[in-house]
Amino acid sequence: MPALMLSGSQKNLALSVLVLIVVTMLGLLTAALLLAGQQANQLAAPNLHGELWRAYQTTREMERTLEAARQYQQGEISGDDLVVRVQVLRSSTRRLQNSKIFSALPLPRPRADEALARIISLSSAWNKQAHFADEQAAQRLAIQINRDMAPLIEPMHEVMIASNISLANKLDHDRQLLYKSFRYIGWALIGLLIGSTLLVARLIYNYRQARQLSNRLSELNHTLEDRVAMRTLELSEEQRVLNQILQASPSDVAFFSADGDEVYFISEGLQSSLLSPSSTFEYAQFFADPADAERFHANLINDNQVDDLEALLRGPSAPYYAVISGRVLEHKGRPAHLIWCYDISMRKQMEESLLALANTDALTGLDNRHSFWRKGEALLHYTRRIEQHCVALMLDIDHFKQINDKYGHQAGDLALQKVASELQLGVRENDILGRIGGEEFVVLLPHISTEQAMPIAERLRSNIEALHLPLGNGQYHSLTLSIGLASMLTHESLDQLLNRADIALYEAKAAGRNRISICPAPALKQTQPLSVD
Ligand code: GH3
Ligand code: MG
Ligand code: MG
Repeated sequence: MPALMLSGSQKNLALSVLVLIVVTMLGLLTAALLLAGQQANQLAAPNLHGELWRAYQTTREMERTLEAARQYQQGEISGDDLVVRVQVLRSSTRRLQNSKIFSALPLPRPRADEALARIISLSSAWNKQAHFADEQAAQRLAIQINRDMAPLIEPMHEVMIASNISLANKLDHDRQLLYKSFRYIGWALIGLLIGSTLLVARLIYNYRQARQLSNRLSELNHTLEDRVAMRTLELSEEQRVLNQILQASPSDVAFFSADGDEVYFISEGLQSSLLSPSSTFEYAQFFADPADAERFHANLINDNQVDDLEALLRGPSAPYYAVISGRVLEHKGRPAHLIWCYDISMRKQMEESLLALANTDALTGLDNRHSFWRKGEALLHYTRRIEQHCVALMLDIDHFKQINDKYGHQAGDLALQKVASELQLGVRENDILGRIGGEEFVVLLPHISTEQAMPIAERLRSNIEALHLPLGNGQYHSLTLSIGLASMLTHESLDQLLNRADIALYEAKAAGRNRISICPAPALKQTQPLSVD
């Protein structure tokens, strides 16, 4: 802060001092005005300085009374006229009685004082003696007046001179006082003018400062409003971009209060596909399987987070597989759930396709060796558990190489496809059929004995025999099949069972092909399998 600038408390003190000065000046001015008014009143009062006039009047009445006494004695006026003159004289001296006629004399005037006291005293005495229609009293009065009044006429001039001097002194004193009062008024006015000027300057300065502060405040307000508006715009823009990102995201997102009463955000995809138009969120509406909904919700509550749970969700028209994650957050002072999920139905389909490809023989569409093995082991395990029989057939196309050699590889492929579909038609739904080698097939027949399996094997063999492979030029090639049959033994593995079926197949080949050989159970010590034409 600059050195000349005043702090807030100093400004208040300066203003208070100024106000005090102005109030004091006003007080002084008021007092001076009152004093001046008083002086003016004294000067302007009509009877205030009437002593000189009364002295003159009294002198005049004295001369008239003396003249009246002389005229009465000469018979020119009546006794009553004299009485009137005496009464008038008394009224004139009565007014002199209490007036301070010589109060402002610089030196005492005993002769004037004495004359004045004498005439007052005489007039009072004469007035008491004066009675109308009393000639004797009038006679006495005329004598006394002539005797006592005449010597007082000349001293009464002294009274007038003295009163004149006193009055002049008094007026001079009053003028001096009035002059002083006006000087006081002048100084007070000057002080008041200076104080008022300073006060007005101070007020103007304060007012200008207040205006500057107000303008500055207004500018700051505008700046603040602009910044708030800009920030609001930025926030709404950020919100819009965030919404766009969320909407464009392959993940569907929902953010809602933990009790599901309030949905803060839900992406359009999720809104349209999973929820009925509602401002609430229910997990039961979200998952296709209520058990999944409960599991997800319980995990989220327990761990505050769930990551990558695969589940079937309700879709807009059909359920679909998705990976769902969730977090427990806090929003608006309440626990909230954020969940996001993305559709993995394509991935699931691809997985299923890959799985199918991995398990299927591409040429024939039958289970390949790997798939057959997996299914076969499960079947063996199951049939053994329920103590059922199971029969394995090992099938091999006879002289297949010749087809390739004679008609080409494509014809060989076609032959394989025809044989595969024919075999597929010849087995039951529960049987497991697979292609495990070039032109080798295998069938597992559950819940069946060797005797029961034989007609089936025979049917397969005859079906293939009846099959004629079209060669494209109106010619056909006939196919035959050799089959080895083995019935599952207790504790025998699939590998062992198929080995025995293979041995029987080998025997069928050796016996001339297009036939079925049965591998006897080892327990029976039959080393030679039965041959059936
Ligand atoms: P046998 O009666 O003793 O079984 O004689 P064969 O000719 O059927 O058996 P061999 O093992 O001598 O020949 C099998 C042939 O099958 C050899 C191979 O070229 C052919 N082959 C294997 N897989 C395929 C295939 O996927 N397509 C075609 N076209 N031929 C195949
Ligand atoms: Mg073979
Ligand atoms: Mg063969």
